[in-house]
Amino acid sequence: DKVREERMAYLAGEKRIKAVTVCFTDIEGRLHMLDYDKKFLLKSSDNLTFDGSSIRGFSAQAESDLRLEIDWPAFYWLPSDVFGPGKVLVFGFVLEKDGTPYRADFRARLREATEALYAREGVVMNAANEIEGFLFKGRDAERHYHETGAFEFISTGGYYHSLPTDELRHFIDRTAEAQRALGFCNEKDHPEVAPSQFEMNYKYAEVNIAADQVQLYKLLARQVAAQMGLTASFLPKPVAGVNGNGMHSNLSLAKDGRNLFHEAGGRDGLSPRAWDFLQRLLANAGELCLVLNPSVNAYRRLDPHFEAPNQIKVSPTDRGSMIRIPLGNEHSARIEVRSVGPDANPYLLYYTLLRTGLEGPGAEPEDTTKRPRTRFLPDNIQDAIRLFKASRLLADQLGEDVHAKFAELKLMQAERCPKALGAIVKACEIQFH
Ligand code: GLN
Ligand code: MG
Ligand code: MG
Ligand code: MG
Repeated sequence: DKVREERMAYLAGEKRIKAVTVCFTDIEGRLHMLDYDKKFLLKSSDNLTFDGSSIRGFSAQAESDLRLEIDWPAFYWLPSDVFGPGKVLVFGFVLEKDGTPYRADFRARLREATEALYAREGVVMNAANEIEGFLFKGRDAERHYHETGAFEFISTGGYYHSLPTDELRHFIDRTAEAQRALGFCNEKDHPEVAPSQFEMNYKYAEVNIAADQVQLYKLLARQVAAQMGLTASFLPKPVAGVNGNGMHSNLSLAKDGRNLFHEAGGRDGLSPRAWDFLQRLLANAGELCLVLNPSVNAYRRLDPHFEAPNQIKVSPTDRGSMIRIPLGNEHSARIEVRSVGPDANPYLLYYTLLRTGLEGPGAEPEDTTKRPRTRFLPDNIQDAIRLFKASRLLADQLGEDVHAKFAELKLMQAERCPKALGAIVKACEIQFH
């Protein structure tokens, strides 16, 4: 409440700010923004309502009014060279009319889950995301695709290439500057393997912040690209025949600043706690898959020929494995979940990974007398939906109603793209976030 008062006093006194953008995310991961006039917001911040019926996956027509509660610590000044002067953004929680948390708002539910973990054991989950994207010609490339069936690269270079005149470089530079302005600690930003592809890496953060940063990253990238007359796309596989876009999620648990996933003499440098966590993820990987890969297009990406995994296993080296163990030390020991695509809802993603890693049913003990049979991730969304729908674990985690709703939305999408397994992207796979 102190933060709330401070921020409200700041807003009241800051003449450059005329309006405040309040954001929340629907179950499919889309960021929604409402601009409240500052004076109105300062008067009515305890009583903000909006119509939830027009947001897919939120409330039904009959119970359409929802409330918004501002999460004052998640408050950002947007850089004026990218967004224009006087723009601020704050995340919010979605509440029912009666003020109870709305069950389809996973930003709030992730918060609940991490607070419960902290209350139980004093443990926090940290996450770092490696978000890849493409930069295409034209401000409206995804829409343009519907008409022409093609995306146009803006550059031909590959990994780490470095022509100073390259637009991809300008884009990366400007996006990185905007990220720094929002408090990201950038570490390594670079063109990726495919032409016109980028990846920007910044320091891990406590998972609630890391999830907000996913939404901010995509917002910034899209805004910078639009400013340059280009499009930043986070479709998992926009172009056949080259690498797709991943969002590798690096996870670890920490207590009092100590990384609980590290153990010097442990197998691959990981502690038993880390192994337990990752085995639970692997044991339930099929049912989780729809959360990590929630679009028709996401399944085109899962191909080890393009450095994206399709096997349910863990390996320190093999990038075809769903989970990799990167070389780490006492600070950086972690697991890297590689199957995640950048169109996953980051709040829902972390919520299910956290709960499954902590308390999901564990793996069967390995039968060392037999060669282990390779298990594969679903290679199309229909199979992923079937596994998800049949999952007791996910129904319990999400709640029956939200679980059913998510499956229904995904089925609708799958049915719009009946022949999803061809070689090229279908226009019906292009989702506008
Ligand atoms: N683009 C790959 C993916 O889809 C990752 C490639 C890499 O980071 N080396 O996951
Ligand atoms: Mg990377
Ligand atoms: Mg990469
Ligand atoms: Mg990686």
